[in-house]
Amino acid sequence: MKVIKTICGMCGGDYCGINVHVEDGRIVKVKGSQDHRVNQGATCPKVQAAIELEYDPNRLSYPMKRAGDKQRGGDAWQRISWDEALDTIAENLTRIKDSYGAQALAVHEGESLEQFIRDGWARRFMNLYGTPNWVQNDHMCYLPAVIAERLTYGVEEIDGFEAEHARCIFLWGANPVTSHVATHWRYITQARKRGAKLIVVDPRFSRSAQKADIYAPIRPGSDVALALGLINFIITQKLYDADFVERWTSGFDQLAERVKPFTPEKVESITGVAANDVRRIAETYATNKPGWLDAGNALEHHSNSAQTLRALMILKALTGNIDVPGGNVLIDGLPLTDVKLREKRPVGLKPLGATKYPLFVEFGEFVPGDVLIETLLTDEPYPIKAMLFSGGNPALTWPNSQRVEAAYRRLDFVAVMELYMTATARLADIVLPAASQFEKAQLIAHTAPFGVDKPTWYLSLRKQITDPGERRSDWWFWKALAHRMGYGDYYPWADEKEAIDYQLEPLGITVADLEANPSGMFYGEPPKYRRYEKEGFRTPTGKVELYSHVLAGYGYDPLPHYEEPVESHARAPETARRYPLILNAGRRVAAYTHSRHRGLPGLRRIEPEPYAEIHPTTAQEYGVSDGDWIVVESLRGSIEIKAQVTEGIVPGVVNLFHGWEEANANVLTDHQDCDPVLATPSLRAELCRVRGKESSQYSGAGM
Ligand code: SF4
Repeated sequence: MKVIKTICGMCGGDYCGINVHVEDGRIVKVKGSQDHRVNQGATCPKVQAAIELEYDPNRLSYPMKRAGDKQRGGDAWQRISWDEALDTIAENLTRIKDSYGAQALAVHEGESLEQFIRDGWARRFMNLYGTPNWVQNDHMCYLPAVIAERLTYGVEEIDGFEAEHARCIFLWGANPVTSHVATHWRYITQARKRGAKLIVVDPRFSRSAQKADIYAPIRPGSDVALALGLINFIITQKLYDADFVERWTSGFDQLAERVKPFTPEKVESITGVAANDVRRIAETYATNKPGWLDAGNALEHHSNSAQTLRALMILKALTGNIDVPGGNVLIDGLPLTDVKLREKRPVGLKPLGATKYPLFVEFGEFVPGDVLIETLLTDEPYPIKAMLFSGGNPALTWPNSQRVEAAYRRLDFVAVMELYMTATARLADIVLPAASQFEKAQLIAHTAPFGVDKPTWYLSLRKQITDPGERRSDWWFWKALAHRMGYGDYYPWADEKEAIDYQLEPLGITVADLEANPSGMFYGEPPKYRRYEKEGFRTPTGKVELYSHVLAGYGYDPLPHYEEPVESHARAPETARRYPLILNAGRRVAAYTHSRHRGLPGLRRIEPEPYAEIHPTTAQEYGVSDGDWIVVESLRGSIEIKAQVTEGIVPGVVNLFHGWEEANANVLTDHQDCDPVLATPSLRAELCRVRGKESSQYSGAGM
């Protein structure tokens, strides 16, 4: 038996080290790797199903083209060779470029292929072809918080924290027991053993919230009011770090004036968080230093995300928790070779959405979701005729699924590279079989909480262990297609490992080094705390910008302000009369990654079916009992789902998990009316209603 150290690819977040046991060429066991510094042997439940996924007969195994009546969404497919698949894609891309211009192609990169998206291999192809229209999911995951950090501090924070020094852990819209159990939650647990306080703000009494010293159940979408209230209390009670504020922030007086109306009582009236808890949270966070505040992914699912995230970044700075051991530490990016061929970018063309969301597109360099869908539906400002999907399943995971599907059906040509026949792949003309986590080599780079004396980057090599058959890596696909399109000279590398060596050149590390260190390698210097003392902050004023000059330059409000979610009782009273409950969609479970893995029996046993969480008082009001079938309706559509009556969700809310094809929460959500600055859709605070249904059953099965 051989034991091969590699990196888990069952989710796109934690990159845990695993030991893969191989006997007679077949994987027989997968376990967490004790000597990998990211997870130190711990894993989440998903890793139990890694072998099932690898040998799942339902995976895509060869290229196929749509057969029969060519109706998109049907199940008639015909096996073809890779040569035919690549020739067909190249012919269609050439035809579309000749007829409509290169910008008529959009390329979507999703997480399911586990590519390190910022590698840029797809964008290298796009720049050679001439289209700026890159599409991905970061407008509702990760990037909004990063932009708020860059607006406020000039650089990003490290993803993780230094538990050894944190005395207060503040989880806001984050539930690491579910989403980072092998990493963040282990470090939080260690910090708790050393006496660190834990504060959790969440409409759900999540498993993280159940461990908290202070739990604040909040009305979905009202987070910014609580944040402004905490800022106000910290300022009026002089709990802020006066020295840091004096020397290293700009805009304090304007901020103090802006937050004045947000007394604890006012905050309670908006958010439902008791005034006394507002005071307790502010005091606990401001006086137990250092504190680490995690602005969770749920905050990136609101039509007021920019205000919320900016207010939280300001809160960290006011309390002196920026760039200190145990606080929110700032880092520079990893200086890999930029493989995108930026010099080939189409002149004068920006990604779609640059007019509607100028700041977001400048930072993110991709097309926001609502802009893509509206462009596909209207052909304005110009038509998109073809899309290539390198992973991703937006037909299920993007808001307003009916509109998303209608939009994709208007395309002239679609090709999807995936592990499974997903809801999005079913809409394709050509489907390509993707290599799994054990069938390809990949560079993995990670920032993680390792303790204060260690460098902040950790590099590992994901290894090819099994025979991929006809499945291929996304890197191989872009290279092969580039050769078909006449761009072969720009792809001189024989395989993934040679390409990774090219990426690693500026770091002075090679694939051979990573192979010689199968548990991973640290890169760079340990964090240099309070680097601003020498360098200042990389903002226009050189300070933490409580008042953002960049936002002002784009014509946005430079200070955070409170605004209700677009579809809320306050802003949409007519809709609220017909749809009186708050729809909170987007919750995740530890067994699955977004819409993935539901076909794997080992994980399906853990989470067998979807359900809607409803508080007992709300359930009683609507005559719903635990386990009843209900219909949940919104302005967009309706789904049938079982009810789970629980005190673990605030009253007046229907809480749904995302990613279930059987009861797709995104049938109910809206893709429009996104945050005006950051383009985040309002997944977690729209309006809905429920009614009972005598019986029903789930049909369909997500992958
Ligand atoms: S958290 Fe789970 S799925 Fe993600 S890398 Fe770690 S073990 Fe794999």
